Amino acid sequence: MSAHFDVIIIGSGAGGGTLAYRLAPSGARILLLERGDYVPREKDNWSTRAVNVEGKYAAKETWRDSAGKELHPHTNYWVGGNTKFYGAALFRLRKEDFGELPHHGGVSPAWPIGYDELEPYYTEAEQLYQVHGERGVDPTDPPASADYKYPAVSHEPRIQQLSDDWARLGCKPFHVPLGIMLDERNRRESRCIRCDTCDGHPCLVSAKSDAQVVCVDPALQHPNVTLVTGAYVSRLETSPSGREVTTVHVERNGARERYRGDVVVVSCGAINSAALLLRSTNDRHPRGLANGSDVVGRNYMGHINSVLMALSKCPNPTVFQKTLGLNDFYFGSKEWPHPMGHISFVGKLDGVTLSAGAPAIAPGWTLEQMGKHSLDFWLTSEDLPDPDNRVTLDRDGRIVLSYRVNNEEGHQRLTDKLKSLMQQQSRCAVHGHECHQGLFSRNLFVGQRIPLAGVAHQNGTIRFGHDPRTSVLDPTCRAHEVDNLYVVDGSFFPSSGAVNPALTIMANALRVGDHILGRLGSRRSDAVAAAAMGAGV
Ligand SMILES: Cc1cc2nc3c(=O)[nH]c(=O)nc-3n(C[C@H](O)[C@H](O)[C@H](O)COP(=O)(O)OP(=O)(O)OC[C@H]3O[C@@H](n4cnc5c(N)ncnc54)[C@H](O)[C@@H]3O)c2cc1C
Ligand code: SF4
Repeated sequence: MSAHFDVIIIGSGAGGGTLAYRLAPSGARILLLERGDYVPREKDNWSTRAVNVEGKYAAKETWRDSAGKELHPHTNYWVGGNTKFYGAALFRLRKEDFGELPHHGGVSPAWPIGYDELEPYYTEAEQLYQVHGERGVDPTDPPASADYKYPAVSHEPRIQQLSDDWARLGCKPFHVPLGIMLDERNRRESRCIRCDTCDGHPCLVSAKSDAQVVCVDPALQHPNVTLVTGAYVSRLETSPSGREVTTVHVERNGARERYRGDVVVVSCGAINSAALLLRSTNDRHPRGLANGSDVVGRNYMGHINSVLMALSKCPNPTVFQKTLGLNDFYFGSKEWPHPMGHISFVGKLDGVTLSAGAPAIAPGWTLEQMGKHSLDFWLTSEDLPDPDNRVTLDRDGRIVLSYRVNNEEGHQRLTDKLKSLMQQQSRCAVHGHECHQGLFSRNLFVGQRIPLAGVAHQNGTIRFGHDPRTSVLDPTCRAHEVDNLYVVDGSFFPSSGAVNPALTIMANALRVGDHILGRLGSRRSDAVAAAAMGAGV
């Protein structure tokens, strides 16, 4: 294998996988380096015990928190990255998220690009990832240049009933945009079978629109694209000037390898990408590669998330639950003019999954019964960038994640809103208003929220911006200080909004891909012109 490539992409998830897809048809020699392997296709893909209790596919390494306590990060190292396990809720950020937005706990900063610049790429990413949705129902929906190509995924009866209840109360519930290959008009031929082990699980029948299925495998159909798995990138080396990355150092099967690329793109996920740059110190970059600003690793965000189970006396027989969303309180309410966030669902929880956490057991209920009777909500609020929330390395080079939650008031208010809505549900024919038993937290590790190890929505550690003193990347996601270094995973976010991040990462990877293609194209035409001049043409 040639050890010199036009482009080396490190990490094959939402960012790296999508970029590989974009660059593949160019004919450029592209190397995709991925520390993981392909997720094995086996029945355990759909076992809640194997996935949620035994953590069969989760990363095995440990990190530390700021107090030095070990944590087992809930993250996944495989071809396709975390998209192999995601719930495929593929949202655009709201148009307002790109501007400066005052919150109760501080200010969410503006992005260096506006929504309009990303809009065509959002449309393209939605089509590529086969997003099923509906426009114009969610009141916070940003403008879009095209309809969804695929119809929204229908609600099952219990979810439809809830949607009707919320509409009756004056809310605007909507169908969550989902990247699953479900054809409800032709269920017999549909690739997706609409099962209850989607969110958090790999799809055994390759019907989830993840980065491996949708981008990496099609990119590999091009002979100019090479994937090397099991390739842990340990360090990036620069030229003596420090202005370009010259060598990518890899550890694979116990051996060390080196690869050279004209353009190097880091896309290891926000925490691992920051760690890679911090590991890559040299004389020109003593604080870490591209880190003259001391911003690399800082401003880690991960959303304020809670899983809340609404228990009722009647069972909830829903199989695929993640179809309903509510953004009425995203920017605030009449009584409270600050952003609160987004309400939707996780995949249906069962007793086995509940046994893995520390749920508040409702009096008189078993975990098994709770799983059968709950509606399982996912609440997301925005956490604000704080330079002290950061990724650093300990003396052994291990990741340390320091995080103190901020902007909590909005999340509490969002929870209260949900409580109030659930108390106003229509009367159950069997149990009347006594049917609803209240809201119970899925997890009691940190208050009622997802604990620090839950880094699913990690972003923000290598932010982009105009000013090299306050950002690492320029608006094209190229490092201010290193001419051939780009970053395309979730680390470029200067703020995170309160919807799931993956579609924004995918859309941005397509956008950055166009910049890189322009760069490769102009280099090629320069070379052709130089050759022509040399030949005296
Ligand atoms: C259970 C779960 C559910 C989720 N649900 C949703 C959802 O419904 N909607 C949504 O928008 N988002 C969801 N997310 C989040 C979403 O998956 C991530 O935002 C997205 O995958 C991040 O993309 P990325 O490119 O930044 O990183 P990743 O997708 O994590 O990709 C990073 C890749 O880099 C590789 N890598 C890391 N370090 C190195 C190294 N040193 N050398 C080589 N390779 C390396 C990793 O193995 C990985 O393949 C979910 C996440 C999880 C875990
Ligand atoms: S079959 Fe459909 S619902 Fe089940 S895991 Fe695959 S994509 Fe998700």
